[in-house]
Amino acid sequence: WKADPEAHTPPPLQEPSGPSPPSQAQQKESVQAVRRSLPVFPFREELLAAIADHQVLIIEGETGSGKTTQIPQYLFEEGYTKKGMKIACTQPRRVAAMSVAARVAREMGVKLGNEVGYSIRFEDCTSERTVLRYMTDGMLLREFLSEPDLASYSVVMVDEAHERTLHTDILFGLIKDVARFRPELKVLVASATLDTARFSTFFDDAPVFRIPGRRFPVDIFYTKAPEADYLEACVVSVLQIHVTQPPGDILVFLTGQEEIEAACEMLQDRCRRLGSKIRELLVLPIYANLPSDMQARIFQPTPPGARKVVVATNIAETSLTIEGIIYVLDPGFCKQKSYNPRTGMESLTVTPLSLWGRFETQEASANQRAGRAGRVAAGKCFRLYTAWAYQHELEETTVPEIQRTSLGNVVLLLKSLGIHDLMHFDFLDPPPYETLLLALEQLYALGALNHLGELTTSGRKMAELPVDPMLSKMILASEKYSCSEEILTVAAMLSVNNSIFYRPKDKVVHADNARVNFFLPGGDHLVLLNVYTQWAESGYSSQWCYENFVQFRSMRRARDVREQLEGLLERVEVGLSSCQGDYIRVRKAITAGYFYHTARLTRSGYRTVKQQQTVFIHPNSSLFEEQPRWLLYHELVLTTKEFMRQVLEIESSWLLEVAPHYYKAKELEDPHSKKMPKKIEGEASRTQHQLLFLLYVI
Ligand code: ADP
Ligand code: MG
Repeated sequence: WKADPEAHTPPPLQEPSGPSPPSQAQQKESVQAVRRSLPVFPFREELLAAIADHQVLIIEGETGSGKTTQIPQYLFEEGYTKKGMKIACTQPRRVAAMSVAARVAREMGVKLGNEVGYSIRFEDCTSERTVLRYMTDGMLLREFLSEPDLASYSVVMVDEAHERTLHTDILFGLIKDVARFRPELKVLVASATLDTARFSTFFDDAPVFRIPGRRFPVDIFYTKAPEADYLEACVVSVLQIHVTQPPGDILVFLTGQEEIEAACEMLQDRCRRLGSKIRELLVLPIYANLPSDMQARIFQPTPPGARKVVVATNIAETSLTIEGIIYVLDPGFCKQKSYNPRTGMESLTVTPLSLWGRFETQEASANQRAGRAGRVAAGKCFRLYTAWAYQHELEETTVPEIQRTSLGNVVLLLKSLGIHDLMHFDFLDPPPYETLLLALEQLYALGALNHLGELTTSGRKMAELPVDPMLSKMILASEKYSCSEEILTVAAMLSVNNSIFYRPKDKVVHADNARVNFFLPGGDHLVLLNVYTQWAESGYSSQWCYENFVQFRSMRRARDVREQLEGLLERVEVGLSSCQGDYIRVRKAITAGYFYHTARLTRSGYRTVKQQQTVFIHPNSSLFEEQPRWLLYHELVLTTKEFMRQVLEIESSWLLEVAPHYYKAKELEDPHSKKMPKKIEGEASRTQHQLLFLLYVI
């Protein structure tokens, strides 16, 4: 490690009140004492007065100062929920909504789901009694569908506003509008210490309330040379910190579930081998799909003598605060959605810092990560990239999600809310013009809008389903092909995407065999259907999952999602029916939704049908070896190449059947019908992809 003496986070705004991590005694202090110790507490009265005086208030405060957990409680105590009125607090991430609601319920001594609850997609933990509602920003957006003036809410707090998610940005426009004709509605925009002036300007110069934070200095270390394999580097670094550094917990930032699980497994494996040579290391993951009991474990105090390492997605950057973190490990990678408005192609990207900077992050994010080390005492942040990369490759400005994602979903929602003139919608930062046009065009192709850009009956139904327009369309189409049972399963399995199969390092061969045993001709969607069907036949057994290397948790979630979607079928006038094994019907229904995502095999590999973009089948796909001529994909993931994930073989004639307005027979002709290359990729590059995906790093 090379220390960079200049690279400190900003100096503490207030004098540190004691540099040691919380002791046993402190941890046992009553809930109220903990509440009083938070930086926001001394400002309670002042804050409530400011809220009383102003309709819109921007609240700025360091992460961990108590904005999310305390402010809604203050409002509750102040009587903002009298006469059955509710307080909404939005979170960009589902995990944060769940975890924070659980925390607040505990602080208030109520059962989660009673006075305090959360509402996230496919999971509603609220009741008639719930007055403090933590919810994802997407869920509040959907509230506008049933209650366009949010009449039952007295306060709306848009939290983590600095994240600038698509849904948060759309909320800004809608809430600003509602606030105009509901003068009694209070609007709070809470943010980490970024961007607050912009929010103020947007809300007609609303005042900014600043909560001074506490921060201890953080020493920053960089690697001397770029790391080739950052996952391995992370694991080694964690162990190094564990062995050489004084007490204090470790926080590691990785990009997603697969990576986090791989890292945790590697860590546990090495600790096991080191046995009693090292002190106990508790390895705890945290990511969006982790069940809540597992999530809660990251907050439990570390037993004396042991050390905790929390392996997290960037949720731990600002949404969650874990006490006791002294060391932060930042590999400088991130999973990002990126969008090309020229081609309308969206992909998920895991890229190193140098490329990553192009899409979003910035120094701000790296500094947020570092800042997590200095909450309770002086900390250390180890960056798995070079000081040069930090200085030269990070961009300083954030590109809000609205400018790098497809807008089909929100355009459909806004149209359902009766907002037709999207070009003049009050955006904090407007999306690119082409992206809006493409969204309209796509919704037109899906039959959700007519040629005047008005919502059709089918579009109204699509908006009812809390899924992407293409997925909604697929579900609606299952009526025509009489296969809604199967399509619901496919839809549910797609929404727990990529976390179905389990591949423990010591049983790779068994796990791979188990996976291949589920393969069915036709492609990955049918494989997912097959897994679910067999699981259902086993009586939804966890033992069955264990034996087949399938993740029980993911399956349970798929079952929940499926049930919820099934409950909505009636509203969208789709009857329950089964294809009785005629999978062509299932495949056609999927094609009816995903005809936008098609590719054909050419002499030079796969090209998307419309945009002629080069794409590749993901090495995990059941069709990787087969290389069918025509296919559709669920999503694109960009690493070194554009990989299609969840691939289904189709026939070109189906495209004319399901989307005659979109495809012309001519463009579906096959000029070279024979002599297709059997395989495009050699074995060597396949191994390389797998390495790059970092799924199976030994
Ligand atoms: P902010 O929103 O300003 O970042 P929070 O209200 O989230 O701050 O956090 C305030 C305090 O509550 C922090 O010290 C944090 O550790 C604690 N906290 C938040 N959520 C939980 C939880 N689920 N379990 C335990 N402690 C929590
Ligand atoms: Mg917060």
